[in-house]
Amino acid sequence: MKLIFERGNEGQALCLMPACDVPEVTLEGFEREGKLYLPHVSENELSRHYTEIAKRVHGVNDGFYPLGSCTMKYNPKVNEEAAALPGFVGVHPLQGDKNSQGCLEVLYKIEESLAEISGMDNVTLQPAAGAHGEFTGLLLIKSYLESIGATNRKKIIVPDSAHGTNPASAVMCGFEIVNIPSGADGCVDLEALSGAVGEDTAGLMLTNPNTVGVFDKNILEITKIVHDAGGLCYYDGANLNAVMGVVRPGDMGFDCIHFNLHKTFSTPHGGGGPGSGPVGCKAFLAPFLPGIRVNKKPCGCYTSGKAEKSFGEVKAFGGNFLVVVKALTYILTLGKEGIPEAAKNAVLNANYMQACLKDDFDLAYDVICMHEFVLTLDKFHKETGISALDLAKGLLDHGIHPPTMYFPLIVHEALMIEPTETEPKEMLDEAVAVFKELKKLAYENPQALHDAPVKTPVRRLDDVRAARTPVLRYNFE
Ligand SMILES: *Cc1c(COP(=O)(O)O)cnc(C)c1O
Repeated sequence: MKLIFERGNEGQALCLMPACDVPEVTLEGFEREGKLYLPHVSENELSRHYTEIAKRVHGVNDGFYPLGSCTMKYNPKVNEEAAALPGFVGVHPLQGDKNSQGCLEVLYKIEESLAEISGMDNVTLQPAAGAHGEFTGLLLIKSYLESIGATNRKKIIVPDSAHGTNPASAVMCGFEIVNIPSGADGCVDLEALSGAVGEDTAGLMLTNPNTVGVFDKNILEITKIVHDAGGLCYYDGANLNAVMGVVRPGDMGFDCIHFNLHKTFSTPHGGGGPGSGPVGCKAFLAPFLPGIRVNKKPCGCYTSGKAEKSFGEVKAFGGNFLVVVKALTYILTLGKEGIPEAAKNAVLNANYMQACLKDDFDLAYDVICMHEFVLTLDKFHKETGISALDLAKGLLDHGIHPPTMYFPLIVHEALMIEPTETEPKEMLDEAVAVFKELKKLAYENPQALHDAPVKTPVRRLDDVRAARTPVLRYNFE
């Protein structure tokens, strides 16, 4: 495939500039030293370029995409329509409150909605991703601990079933990590937690439902143990899809949470980003929030300001504002009844697929799952030589995006499957049939799976080399 720089020719300009209607000035001293390398393509060529790229990827619009812990649900087109409204697209962040009432209302309404869904009091929309939200939430916790003089509290407890970003965010905030194990049921080991908390505990970071798709049945006891020791509780709400509108992290005893709008709230994800990872908190943490705080006055108009002891900014202005518009559109479309219904269907779909597959594949945890479940292909691998990776590659030839592989780390040969609520039963049945067919193939003709995929634009890639020595720049010389 040709890169954009290899297409077109000098002079095949794409843009038509209007005549200049202001005095021309020369910016002396700021002239570019080197040549400016821009593609010289016509609109036709540009359009073909993107179409060609789009044909070579697998997106939610191409087929089933059960990538565990990522909630690759369908993104309704009405979200895009709302985000494309000229008043939202053309607004300037320094326009002033008086001329930005509609935008402030959006920020106010989504803050209100997310606070209600999570059982928190306030929300900041600044963070641009889930991990960025974790970082922001931990800064809130840190600011609060400093404000009460508890600077000795430096340790964040992270269960081994946590998402990998949790310990990474805590370290970036200057905390030390204390790892605690999960029990055989995939839940936090309460004894280990009680043994880990102490005078130096800043808090706990918990993913619930956790990365094995299990809702921790001891959740109230967990938050009590941490609070009794003087620590705070952080809820990784990236995967709120299983619980939104059904139970609220705030009611479970959590002080702070991040949401992934690009998972649960149907805004585009991965290459289709940008993302948004708002953070909700209880009122005692709100004085430290970053970014714009929007208030509604009795007259019905909105004003913006800063939190009184704000720790600063984590992104400019209101965050990825148009992503927020899409998420609010989604929330308003579903409403109070639709949100729990979506969550319940996500859980139903995951349990349906789990039930269909459990006789053919081993479950890592044989329990009623939440939005996702994890298969372990350990025994299967030993019997057939076919690994979770080989099976995943086989799925590609059937137009199915592989599940998340080799995660969570506590499960061997893991495949983590999250169908989401936006797939119909027919799609789930089709996918189950493919899994069963590939299992049969693994015993009868394993080489065929070692060779897979054969129908994709590229075959097996050297993913280690791609990660270690990525080529990210085009060499123009
Ligand atoms: C996706 C995810 C994250 C990180 O979100 P990003 O937007 O990718 O930074 C954190 N925790 C959990 C449980 C997740 O699933």
